[in-house]
Amino acid sequence: MKIWFEHLSKKQKNIVALTAASAVLLTLAGIVFQPKVKTVNINDFSLDNSISDIAPKLGITKKALARELNLKLNVSKKKPIKKLGVSQDAFTHSLNHLLSHKDSTLKYYFYFILSLSGLIYLLKLGRPDKLEIKLIKHYYPISIYVLFLFASVILCGFLLGKSPNPMEGVVKVFKSMVGLYPEPAVKTIAFLFFISLAVIGNKIICGWACPFGSIQELLYIIPVFKKIKKKKLPFWLANSIRSGLFIIMLLLLFAVVGNKKGFVIYHYLNPFNLFNFDFDYASIIITLILVSGFSLFVYRPFCQLICPFGLVSWIFEKISVFKIRIDYQKCTNCGACVNACPSQAAYGILKKKKMTADCFSCARCLSVCPVDAITYKSIFKK
Ligand code: SF4
Ligand code: SF4
Repeated sequence: MKIWFEHLSKKQKNIVALTAASAVLLTLAGIVFQPKVKTVNINDFSLDNSISDIAPKLGITKKALARELNLKLNVSKKKPIKKLGVSQDAFTHSLNHLLSHKDSTLKYYFYFILSLSGLIYLLKLGRPDKLEIKLIKHYYPISIYVLFLFASVILCGFLLGKSPNPMEGVVKVFKSMVGLYPEPAVKTIAFLFFISLAVIGNKIICGWACPFGSIQELLYIIPVFKKIKKKKLPFWLANSIRSGLFIIMLLLLFAVVGNKKGFVIYHYLNPFNLFNFDFDYASIIITLILVSGFSLFVYRPFCQLICPFGLVSWIFEKISVFKIRIDYQKCTNCGACVNACPSQAAYGILKKKKMTADCFSCARCLSVCPVDAITYKSIFKK
């Protein structure tokens, strides 16, 4: 990092100072001036209330509350909940779960700041103007990436809790289609926000701002199991599993299979619950343990094998504006980028494959090419 910083040009040093100062000031301003929303808590509700009393205060539909309470969707919404056969324990558990999904507007703002700062770093700062190509290993120092990863875990994770997050951004659009959210347009806008960040910089939100993506990345960076890390998860296999899960989710949610309309399989695998210390189901704890363990030697197992946003943003990667580009005139096909890449993405880009693995814009391939054939730039630039 020292060599990287010393070789930045004056203009680059000014951009570093400006970006870092703006990011810190905007973050502090966001925390101080965040909109005060009226909060509700579990003590505001009791079994004497009806579904019609509670659902609007939680910002969900009556059907969604009925589903959460494990009742039929057409149950009476006017009767006190205690007359519907719901126990106090089940009621408390369901309400706690719904309250944990309260979106924090400030978190959208943090996702934006981190993604934008990451993009500026990838485009303008990672390659010091005064550093010769023979010292390329000092481009894009991993320590800067680690700083971003910790910032996302703290700000977008533990400080503001699990919601919103990109994974829920996808799922909630489909949930609103079966009537589980009162304002489908709001959920669609949230989804568009996440996906637009992924499209502007290739999966930049996953690589630089998603807190659970960052946890997996931090675990993978720990220098253990180096030999196993050289073997990469086959993309066709990972993507088939991720797509299969997504199809199963849709079939169950729309009750094409089963009769529990509104059932969401990802609820039982949601690792973002970690940020609320909410371990409702044993399956969530098991997912967290397995993903954390595997992350020590498999690159982002949750992103590659499970996450619905990982899947959807992979589809949108094809139209990303800023991304890894290879100059095939300069490239000698030495394979250095393929070896440095933790997934099969660099291989797909190098070989111009139609189905390329997810690229998380991690920048590892940008500091290994001996002939400087790889850059992170706009698709509109030559
Ligand atoms: S793919 Fe990974 S980084 Fe992207 S939203 Fe999902 S968990 Fe986060
Ligand atoms: S190393 Fe692989 S995942 Fe990382 S930016 Fe390069 S191609 Fe993308």
